[in-house]
Amino acid sequence: MPKTSDIVGIINKIAPMSLAEGWDNPGLQVGDPGAEAGRIMVALDATSDVVASAIASSCQLLVTHHPLIFKPLKSISTVTRQGSLIHTAIRAGLSIVSMHTNYDIATGGLNDLLSRKIGLLDCVPLQVTAAQELVKLVVFVPADHIEQIKSALLPHAWSLGNYRDCSFATAGEGTFTPLEGADPFIGMVGIPQKVSEQRFELLVERRTLPRAIKAFMAAHPYEEPAYDVYSLLNEGEKLGLGRIGHLPGTLTLADFAGQIKKTLSAPGLRYVGDPSALLYKVALCSGSGASLLHEAARAGADVLVTGDLKYHEARDAQDLGIALIDAGHFPTEIIMVAEMTEQIGNAICAAGYKDCQVVPCCIETDPFKI
Ligand SMILES: [Zn+2]
Repeated sequence: MPKTSDIVGIINKIAPMSLAEGWDNPGLQVGDPGAEAGRIMVALDATSDVVASAIASSCQLLVTHHPLIFKPLKSISTVTRQGSLIHTAIRAGLSIVSMHTNYDIATGGLNDLLSRKIGLLDCVPLQVTAAQELVKLVVFVPADHIEQIKSALLPHAWSLGNYRDCSFATAGEGTFTPLEGADPFIGMVGIPQKVSEQRFELLVERRTLPRAIKAFMAAHPYEEPAYDVYSLLNEGEKLGLGRIGHLPGTLTLADFAGQIKKTLSAPGLRYVGDPSALLYKVALCSGSGASLLHEAARAGADVLVTGDLKYHEARDAQDLGIALIDAGHFPTEIIMVAEMTEQIGNAICAAGYKDCQVVPCCIETDPFKI
C-alpha cells in the first residue's frame, strides 16, 4: 500500500511542483507523509463538506486543485473555518495534497483538458513560464553490455517531437588500469586494459537526470561506470499558463458560447463582443484568467475563454477588440476531478501498488447560481 509521500511523488511526476507560480502553495497541505494512503479522493476544493465526504468514504488522502493553505497561519483554532477543517482532517487521519498552478501549466493538465473539451487544435501555452531544460548524457559501456544499458536509459530519453527512444552510439576503445583495492569486472589490478566499448548518448530532461543516472549505474557491469553530462543551449518543450489554439473552422461568438455552455454543463455564461463575430483563434485559461487578456490580444486571439471576469476587464476587451467568454471558475475547473482521478489511478497502477483506490468527489456544486 502506498504512503502519502509515495502519492505526492506520483503527483509530482504528473505535474511537477516546480512548475507552480511563485505565489502558489501546491503540495502537502495537511497530514503525515509516512501515513498509508490506500483510498484517495480527488476534489476541486477542500470544503468542510468535501472533507466530511472523504472521511465518511474512509479515505486517508484528499487531493484537491485549490490549496487549503495560501498564507502562513497564525493559529489552528476550530473557531475559524480553515482551522476547523485542518483540525478535523488531522483528527480523522486525513492528509490533504493540492496540485494547483503546477497542474494548470503541466502538459496534460487542466488547460490541456479544457482545450480538448472545447475542441481546440494545435494548442501552445498562452504565457510561457518555463521551458524544459535539457542536458546531454554520454555513457561508456563495454560493447557486449550495450543492450542492457539501452533498456535502462531509453525510458529516460527526451522525445524529439513524435519520436521517442532517440539515441546515438559509436564504437571505440576504453582504457583503464585498476588500482590497489579495485575489484574490476574486466582485467586485473595493476595491469593496463584496453576494452572495446560503446559511447552511448541521449538527451535527458535535467529534472529527470538523477533518475537516469541511477538507472544507468544499476545496469552497468563496472565498479566505476564512466559518464559525462553536458549543458546544452537546446530548449525543450515550452510550458506556461493558458493555451492558444484554433477551432476546426470558424464559429460565431454566440454559437461558440452556446457550445461551451453545453460542453461544460454550465448553467449559463456571459460573453462580451458581437454575437455574430466569426471566431477562429481561441485563447483560454481555466479558473481566473483575466490577467491573460492583453497576452491573448497580443497573440491575435479572437476570443479569450475563462472565468471570474469583472466589468472593467470587459471594457478593456472591447478596447482591445477581443471577445470574451466568462464560463465561470467552477465549470472551467470542475472537469479536473474526473481527469485527475484517472491520471493518479493509472500512475498508481503503473507504480505497481495493488491495494489502492482513487475515487472522484461527486458532491461539489458551483457556489454561484443563475
Ligand atoms: Zn481555480
